[in-house]
Amino acid sequence: MTELICIVCPMGCRLSIDDSMNVTGNSCKRGEAYGRQEVIDPKRIITSTVRIEGSAFRRCPVKTDRPIQKHLVFEAMKLLDGVKLVSPVNAGDFALKNILKTEVNFVVTKSM
Ligand code: SF4
Repeated sequence: MTELICIVCPMGCRLSIDDSMNVTGNSCKRGEAYGRQEVIDPKRIITSTVRIEGSAFRRCPVKTDRPIQKHLVFEAMKLLDGVKLVSPVNAGDFALKNILKTEVNFVVTKSM
């Protein structure tokens, strides 16, 4: 039995997942899916910043366009140290494609 807090919304339901992957404690279907995913293959969205040149600001916010496997988060964050964007950039532009061959990308979240 695994117990965890659902982080999909601010309700923070307490989930229990048994060995047969039955989820209890969830108030909605999203929590059920989250509970199973978290036990089988936990993933996270990464938000961070990268260097940018030619802008009034020195850092540009980015995030992954999809969740990435949790065990790859630290390695993915390290890759951002080597990224330097050049202004202008638009929200949605790629900052780094195909992170660690996962087909997940870092995208810019603010035009600057
Ligand atoms: S189970 Fe549903 S209601 Fe509860 S925290 Fe997760 S998403 Fe929110």
